[in-house]
Amino acid sequence: MRKLFIAGNWKMNKNISEAIELANGLKRNLYDVNDIDIAICPTLVPLTEVSEIVAETNIGLGAQNVYWEESGAFTGEISSTMLKDAGCKYVVIGHSERRQYFSETNETVNKKIKAVQAAGLVPIVCVGEVLQEREDGRTFDVIKTQIDKSLAGIKVDDASRFVVAYEPVWAIGTGKTATPDQAQEVHKFIRGLLSKLLGNEVADNVRIQYGGSVKPENAKELMSQEDIDGALVGGASLKVDSFTDIIKNCLK
Ligand code: PEP
Repeated sequence: MRKLFIAGNWKMNKNISEAIELANGLKRNLYDVNDIDIAICPTLVPLTEVSEIVAETNIGLGAQNVYWEESGAFTGEISSTMLKDAGCKYVVIGHSERRQYFSETNETVNKKIKAVQAAGLVPIVCVGEVLQEREDGRTFDVIKTQIDKSLAGIKVDDASRFVVAYEPVWAIGTGKTATPDQAQEVHKFIRGLLSKLLGNEVADNVRIQYGGSVKPENAKELMSQEDIDGALVGGASLKVDSFTDIIKNCLK
């Protein structure tokens, strides 16, 4: 039985005081949720403040990106061990916005996964097709390439420490959500790919989140699909009430 895992990706939003307010609101509302794993991923600026707020709570801390080297002359970058030191447990890797605007490739995703695992952090590896690829009937090919290349040479000993997020790019921040059937079809396909790469036991237990305009109104139906094990939430994670409602609606 895979435990649902719902994470909020704050993207480039929230200054320090806003981040403190949001984290405190979530801590207040969600303190008694034990049946769903929860994480929030702020920007790096309020990371320390948010880390202190969620320390010793049921809310995990995540980062939105990482560099694969440990330290050195890499201006503007941050390493896995620095994120761990700041209290992070999770790192989002290969988000479509990073692929689209910051030249992230499957090869850099692969290096980042290895660095994150070596530091003992949990990667949340994002994959997903753009609209044209779906319309051309290439969704499965695109996902297969992303998974095969991103996970090349990766070993997973403990499935609870590895997460994949299926995020159809056409559904991110657009208000268009994949239907539960569309999402389930791809999640099942991804689980099959993971079986070949990581073995059946790991694949059966790895959580595959769905991301793309998840809201309180659609979360429960998406999460009730067999291979959908949680959500990576962007816009709706920026407000205490909507992120709380997504989580509470999935508990019912
Ligand atoms: C995301 O940022 O990963 C995301 C899915 O965004 P949104 O929920 O706003 O579509």
